[in-house]
Amino acid sequence: MIKFLDLQQINEEYREAFHTQLVDLLDSGWVLMGKHLESFETNFAKYCKAKHCVGVANGLEAITIILEAYKIAGKLKEGDDVIVPSNTYIATILGVINAGLKPVFVEPDEDFNLSVKHTQKAISQNTKAIFTVHLYGQASNIPAFTKLASENGLLLFDDAAQAHGAKDLEGQRVGGSTHATAFSFYPGKNLGALGDGGAITTNDSEIAQIIKAYRNYGSHQKYHNKYKGVNSRLDELQAAFLNKKLENLDRDNKKRQNVAKQYLEQIDNKYIQLPLVHDIEKHAFHLFVLRIKESRRDHFQEYLAKHNIQTVIHYPIPPHHQSALKEFKHLNLPVAEQMQDEVISIPISQVITKDEVNTIIKTINDYR
Ligand SMILES: *Cc1c(COP(=O)(O)O)cnc(C)c1O
Repeated sequence: MIKFLDLQQINEEYREAFHTQLVDLLDSGWVLMGKHLESFETNFAKYCKAKHCVGVANGLEAITIILEAYKIAGKLKEGDDVIVPSNTYIATILGVINAGLKPVFVEPDEDFNLSVKHTQKAISQNTKAIFTVHLYGQASNIPAFTKLASENGLLLFDDAAQAHGAKDLEGQRVGGSTHATAFSFYPGKNLGALGDGGAITTNDSEIAQIIKAYRNYGSHQKYHNKYKGVNSRLDELQAAFLNKKLENLDRDNKKRQNVAKQYLEQIDNKYIQLPLVHDIEKHAFHLFVLRIKESRRDHFQEYLAKHNIQTVIHYPIPPHHQSALKEFKHLNLPVAEQMQDEVISIPISQVITKDEVNTIIKTINDYR
């Protein structure tokens, strides 16, 4: 069986390092808000070329906390409209709703990312922010969104949960070029913890200070609470593990790019549309997502399963069709709806073997 993602294998190389870190932590007795978190925040900010990084408990809360911080700073208010892509993972939408703001769904382009053109048309008097997503690991068009946001007096945020290390068209790493960026370190992400984790990067020092307090009960100083905050901390053990794995992030993304290059060059089947990749070397390839035409997607997935190749659909139901989001079910979003019927993600990771990649390509090319 070729696994969709072999997490056990991915973490195997860190077995010794993780053991050492766990023992050090037990010896130190300090498990929250300590030197490992500080060190990871410094290293990850540097990696993203951002001024600040603040660790939080997960990616969903990273999104919500960014928006709450801008509310505290007086730059957003309850009920403001935030533009989001119609085909994202539901977390982006829930993050906006949980912060008391209103998601406005805008359709993606062929590259799966939020369309600049459609965003421009969707901007209204109520629009106060754009929350773009680097879906599947390819950077959204940040230079164009930066221009659009500044021309319209909007805040620009990005959800980089799938795009650690990805670069935009100008070669700028995601995480350093918008007002604030949300990251997730969910175990299956390109930079994954051994549990939940998340972070926010920003170049705005005032916002960074608010977020630092907000994630910890709104407190800068113990038992002094400035804001109605939350408990959303990244613990020392996860921060220590992430610090170790961050050292290899570029190496691992390079391996993913090499697999993607082979898929792009060698997959050839009339039923299959390869993803639109702007630049292999800028893409983090969190996922490699094919589109299958003629309502054959489920048939294709069963075929691969029969040939012992695991696949996953990202995502089978668009957010506005989820039971949780009934208030949006009347929306007409044909691009997202069609994508959800056609997409299928095939295995890609830093630990997939050459033989496995060759088997996947041959099996896909033999599909009829
Ligand atoms: C994984 C993911 C999140 C949420 O991250 P969690 O850490 O699981 O809360 C948000 N947005 C996108 C696009 C994701 O893929």
